[in-house]
Amino acid sequence: MQVESPKLVAALAELKIEHRPGERLADWTSLGVGGRTDILVIHEPRHLPELVHLLDAEGLPRRFLGGGSNLLVREGELPWVLLHLSTKETQPEFEGRRVKVAAAADLGRTVTECARRNLGGVEGLIGVPGSVGGALRMNAGAYGIEISQFVKTVTLYRAASRSIETVPAAAIGFHYRHTSFAADDIMISAGLELPERPYEEIRAAIKVCNEKRRASQPLNEKSAGCIFKNPPGASAGKMIDELGLKGHRLGGAVVSERHANFFVNRFQATADDLLGLIDFVRQRIRQAFGYELEEEVIVWT
Ligand SMILES: Cc1cc2nc3c(=O)[nH]c(=O)nc-3n(C[C@H](O)[C@H](O)[C@H](O)COP(=O)(O)OP(=O)(O)OC[C@H]3O[C@@H](n4cnc5c(N)ncnc54)[C@H](O)[C@@H]3O)c2cc1C
Repeated sequence: MQVESPKLVAALAELKIEHRPGERLADWTSLGVGGRTDILVIHEPRHLPELVHLLDAEGLPRRFLGGGSNLLVREGELPWVLLHLSTKETQPEFEGRRVKVAAAADLGRTVTECARRNLGGVEGLIGVPGSVGGALRMNAGAYGIEISQFVKTVTLYRAASRSIETVPAAAIGFHYRHTSFAADDIMISAGLELPERPYEEIRAAIKVCNEKRRASQPLNEKSAGCIFKNPPGASAGKMIDELGLKGHRLGGAVVSERHANFFVNRFQATADDLLGLIDFVRQRIRQAFGYELEEEVIVWT
């Protein structure tokens, strides 16, 4: 989707929105797959209501791109403009145990910066790639914790009111890799509250998490983390492994030998290769175990 109207292009410049035409999503996503579209990089989130208004007036559909680490995007000319918050100037602000962090901030860096202030609890999130906003949207979690446990408030562009609001965590439904935010809500920042812990203790916990990840995940291959959610009381990865599907290949996409719930783009996979592999594995699991696996990866087709 191209932003062509000269009027809109001029308005974007006035709102300090960077227009990046024809970007390849393969370059913006950890899976390394996805076609082309215009990306609008927002430097001042307060302009979001006006930006959405302008795009609606031009009839341009939009989606939001965070760090791109949980996305499987189709090829070709994409039918949406992508909004993206600038990652510049995303230093967290601290006040006692409270931290205000920009949605565009890198999640791992945020965990490390909190650790330096003797604020812990979130060590498990250290190796989750992507942004704080993506983690909020997905309710990212690892090693027994989820980000929602530490969220006090979220400031967002709310599609329902078409304005920027700060909502308390109690008003947000946080579930396993799913939240109650509307599809076109845009997270701007979050207020977290973290428990105090000595830096050395946090550092040791971070090291353990990093080692566990390195030992069990294909971190030097292109992936989007776990493809499927775990069904209640079961492990999708374990079931896929039990069926002997590690290493199974479709086109350029492969079920990782290191972690059966990670599908990797090893041989220049296309979105169709990955989608085909997802369908194949889902069908095998249905036949063998009777579970209908649900995707954790967000698919944009
Ligand atoms: C190697 C690897 C390991 C991983 N391990 C884990 C793990 O242990 N636990 C886990 O939970 N996940 C894991 N993931 C998945 C992924 O890192 C998380 O889901 C992450 O939180 C996604 O953040 P992102 O910024 O990259 O979001 P994106 O991939 O850009 O987007 C994901 C969704 O969030 C939306 N979104 C992003 N930012 C915003 C925003 N500011 N406002 C509104 N919507 C937004 C997007 O529109 C999209 O719907 C892993 C991924 C990889 C590649």
